[in-house]
Amino acid sequence: MDKLKRSNDNILLSEINSFTKATNDKYDQQLWILKNAQDDSKKTDRLKVKECKWCFYLKPEAFAFSAFTKWLCVGCGLPQTSDSSAVDRFCGGFSDKYKACIKCGSDLDMNASRSKLSYE
Ligand SMILES: [Zn+2]
Ligand SMILES: [Zn+2]
Repeated sequence: MDKLKRSNDNILLSEINSFTKATNDKYDQQLWILKNAQDDSKKTDRLKVKECKWCFYLKPEAFAFSAFTKWLCVGCGLPQTSDSSAVDRFCGGFSDKYKACIKCGSDLDMNASRSKLSYE
């Protein structure tokens, strides 16, 4: 009986250690993502896809499936098409003109007190 209990304790201990290892991995991964966001380590790639730091690094991926989708740009009201159900809210032209994120419409540098609407 005593021997059985000890072996159960060992199993439990090894399970706790294995849960901890998995959680540590997730924790480290999140810290790594936060560090990337803070350093804006992929700024060139981020600006290429016209997204702010939140949408590029941190926003949980929206559930998307492959489907031809029509949508209207919130900024200019022009119809857009996408091959995924996870459509953007703003078109590329709007983003280019106003330096705004295509996903959420924020300033690309996340400056909430911009003095200029357009940089053209
Ligand atoms: Zn637009
Ligand atoms: Zn955004």
